[in-house]
Amino acid sequence: MSLFSDMEKLGLGKVNVDNVFKEESKPVKKQNVLKEPVKEVVTEESVLFDKTYKCPVCDHEFKVKAVRTGKVKLIDQDEDLRPIYDNHIDPLKYDAVTCTKCGYTALTRYYMALTNSQLRTIKQEYCANFRGIPEENPLMSYAGALTRHKLALVCAMKRNAKSSELAYIFLKMAWLLHGQAIEDNIQEGSKKYDEYKQNALECVAKAYEGFSAAFSKETFPMCGMDEVSLRYIMAEFAYKLGKKEESVRWLAGVLQSRTAPQRIKDKALELKDRIKAEVAEGK
Ligand SMILES: [Zn+2]
Repeated sequence: MSLFSDMEKLGLGKVNVDNVFKEESKPVKKQNVLKEPVKEVVTEESVLFDKTYKCPVCDHEFKVKAVRTGKVKLIDQDEDLRPIYDNHIDPLKYDAVTCTKCGYTALTRYYMALTNSQLRTIKQEYCANFRGIPEENPLMSYAGALTRHKLALVCAMKRNAKSSELAYIFLKMAWLLHGQAIEDNIQEGSKKYDEYKQNALECVAKAYEGFSAAFSKETFPMCGMDEVSLRYIMAEFAYKLGKKEESVRWLAGVLQSRTAPQRIKDKALELKDRIKAEVAEGK
């Protein structure tokens, strides 16, 4: 009696086990079964809210779009420490606040009360001439952000702001121009690229000049930045401006610092090596 003959009695007919292991069905491709976890896509619009400001010049209350803190994730930094956020959101665009009535503009960290003489100058020399700018809805464009930063610069000049504040606006503009170049996919070698490079370099030169002055007469933290970070940015800017020796001096300050985070030291070493290599090549 064969092993499976009793199956016949159960009505199952002859059970043939000769090929029992050959008929195995092909494995189902796992990739179709196990789906990758869905990454939450956060849109720029979803992280914005209307923030109310009161203009220190005309007392007008108005709302501007602001970015909810903690809603955007910093994922990287450029070589000049320009912050790069997840989901292509750029909070930098929302940092200059313009009064919708008189046009007074400042970066958020400097949007505060003014002295009487500052008020007088701003009213007479700025507000009296200001013709208004179009609203940016629902999102701020890079062009709109750059315009507002330029207004912030004009207002800061009118109220004799510190070198660090003026330099910081130029730094922000350099970062915005970079962001815009990426968004517009500006290709190296094109006319637009040359224009972008020229404008960005102008901002870098002004930021470098202003922060150089600030280093000798102001104290840290400066514009919310610590000394090591700013020294590193100065090294990068000096390099961009073709001042290699100055760049190396700024880098020494970063590399000798006991408090510098490793990621900044790594960037500083990278730049130092690049300069060394270029000098060796006679560049
Ligand atoms: Zn105003």
